[in-house]
Amino acid sequence: MSESGPPRGDASATGKDSAVRKAFPHVDLAGHNLPPSPAPSSPRTGRRYALATELVYTESNDQFNASSVPIYQSATFKQTSGGGGGEYDYTRSGNPTRTHLERHLAKIMSAQRALVVSSGMAALDVITRLLKPGDEVVTGDDLYGGTNRLLKYLSTHGGIIVHHVDTTNPENVEQVLSSKTAMVLLETPTNPLIKIVDIRRISTVTHAKNPGALVAVDNTMLSPLLLNPLDLGADIVYESGTKYLSGHHDLMAGVIAVNDLALGDKLYFPINASGCGLSPFDSWLLLRGVKTLKVRMEQQQNNAQRIAEFLESHGFRVRYPGLKSHPQYDLHWTMARGAGAVLSFETGDALISERIVESAKLWAISVSFGCVNSLISMPCRMSHASIDAKTRKERAMPEDLIRLCVGIEDPDDLIDDLRRALVQAGAVDVTLQGFQNINQSPSSSSDSVPPPAASSAT
Ligand SMILES: *Cc1c(COP(=O)(O)O)cnc(C)c1O
Repeated sequence: MSESGPPRGDASATGKDSAVRKAFPHVDLAGHNLPPSPAPSSPRTGRRYALATELVYTESNDQFNASSVPIYQSATFKQTSGGGGGEYDYTRSGNPTRTHLERHLAKIMSAQRALVVSSGMAALDVITRLLKPGDEVVTGDDLYGGTNRLLKYLSTHGGIIVHHVDTTNPENVEQVLSSKTAMVLLETPTNPLIKIVDIRRISTVTHAKNPGALVAVDNTMLSPLLLNPLDLGADIVYESGTKYLSGHHDLMAGVIAVNDLALGDKLYFPINASGCGLSPFDSWLLLRGVKTLKVRMEQQQNNAQRIAEFLESHGFRVRYPGLKSHPQYDLHWTMARGAGAVLSFETGDALISERIVESAKLWAISVSFGCVNSLISMPCRMSHASIDAKTRKERAMPEDLIRLCVGIEDPDDLIDDLRRALVQAGAVDVTLQGFQNINQSPSSSSDSVPPPAASSAT
């Protein structure tokens, strides 16, 4: 059967129903129709283990019982008859290594179906293909730069109306919701301002106002280890697999997960149609990386907490949901199981910030996060440079903001390196008050509520 045959997973492709069922069964190997995930990645008993166990536990029907799922580096698969009959035919439509990864991720993300594509932005591209001209999207004003860019393109080329509001206040979302709202797109914590968005409440008001509207959440910052947006009322969760899921910055991937299987089929359509499904080799790498998600994330998070406390105690305004001073600390902890490993802080002076970033040695100057090694960046100059300066200002994004993406190194080494960089950059007064931020405002002592973002932007 040629690749021009009916796409797998397309409900209209009646002739391929059995192949579709075989590739995406909704029962596990033992015949239990248990949520969330189908075999072969789930244990045969149908039992759900703790996430740390599920992350490493996989079952496959490999003919040689390979412990590591093989890479099916093949574009085509021979069919058993002229009418097809094979479970796979063409890798754009489906590949055993990719399917195994998708089932494994569905289990980990507590979803009925997961789809993996070539990058986080490809995941968003697939999701936004659900939209039609005239549809409205409600989203945040502190979005990932690439998300902003894609939405901007859709509004200028695709007839989509995009409302950017401060989603940290659900009332702002409520105000712009209408019968035209097709999608609400959320990130929490936002990046780099680390603002928290109430997924539960926004999902409730969105569905009440327009039952057909979809709530999609970008869960890249926390990963399924720390947050399950689907459990909070979201319809779609997506993540960049380039970050924590893989953990080593050696691949790019995107993951989409849903509970509604009909919605899953609609999302599969553009993947099969355009060919953005994750390659067999990258699927294998991501499968390998995700097994250590828990040990990596826990170490990264513990390190981030210590670093956040170190900076705050020396008079820097730190944004991190692990700190009680975070204005939405309580909200964050009603949704998430941890604070993650990305934090940002302000020095009060963009030039000083630049010198800190350049003086750090253990902290590589790099965009992105989620890798085992620690990274430092200035979002306004790097990852968010695609947002113009005027818009950055409107969104109260401080030009002196430094973002730290904490890795798994020894926390004392990381703090030592940061301390040295702060001294070298002239960011701290080492003579008078001990070791304190020279631009410290009187109100920014460690246990006070941080001042509004704009006040410290210079
Ligand atoms: C990196 C990132 C993306 C995009 O993922 P890619 O894999 O780089 O395409 C989307 N959202 C957030 C929050 C990210 O950090």
